[in-house]
Amino acid sequence: MIIVKVGGGEGINLEAVCRDAAELLGQGEQLVLVHGGSHRTNQVAEALGHPPQFVTSPSGYTSRLTDRRTIGIFEMVYCGEINKGIVERLQALGVDAVGLSGVDGGLWSGPRKDAIRVVENGRQRIVRDNYTGRVEQVNTSLLKILLGGGFLPVLTPPAISFEGEAINVDGDRAAAATAAALGADRLVVLSNVPGVLRSFPDESSLIPRISAAELNQVAEDAAGGRMRIKLLAAGEALAAGVPQVLIGDARCENPIRETLNGSGTLIQ
Ligand code: ADP
Repeated sequence: MIIVKVGGGEGINLEAVCRDAAELLGQGEQLVLVHGGSHRTNQVAEALGHPPQFVTSPSGYTSRLTDRRTIGIFEMVYCGEINKGIVERLQALGVDAVGLSGVDGGLWSGPRKDAIRVVENGRQRIVRDNYTGRVEQVNTSLLKILLGGGFLPVLTPPAISFEGEAINVDGDRAAAATAAALGADRLVVLSNVPGVLRSFPDESSLIPRISAAELNQVAEDAAGGRMRIKLLAAGEALAAGVPQVLIGDARCENPIRETLNGSGTLIQ
């Protein structure tokens, strides 16, 4: 079983990811797809007059500030336009895909963090009215029903808090939790870069392999912003028993297979 997370950045070739997934399923591989939608969400939020705001935590992770209105916009884009767009493409390719958010069937649940500490101009402050959290439990029985019935689950944030509120969770970390809960062999994380770069944005500085022991050091030295979260997710997946995490490029013709064949960064 392979869990494939495809990001929501600019330049990502969703059509190619769907074709590649269809090909792999045809070869008898079991898959679960997880996707993001950050770039499109930013555009829609701007258009609706509620521009995105990003905050940085004291430990250096960047995340979307998610008030109640943002959750609504987030759901429109992630669960609506993008999720249904992927399911439609897969259906056209003959794949019986089913799109679900982490809210549906309590698929991804965890604690909400309603107050977060952020750093602004070197100063810390607390932000409230925040609908974010992290995935602590995965409803694997729902996923197994779908997989057993021959369906391809296509999953997207938000998740559901233990109190029943939709919460924005990081898609990479949700994919890692899903891979761990399902006992997947591999987690493939596709983005709009060739993999982890030693000196971003120099694409020739790709790091082909990172061991679990090196992960924290690479995150400190090389990875800024969003790539740091992918490395955090990779570490969580490995720690929870997923043997391999591969970070690869979703801008090419066969993104999943090229990454599985070693074109990106292998973390194990
Ligand atoms: P997605 O939405 O596809 O999940 P993100 O945009 O959140 O992906 O994260 C990938 C981004 O991380 C890249 O587009 C790049 O801008 C940024 N990044 C920062 N540091 C690095 C690095 N060392 N190597 C690769 N990408 C990096």
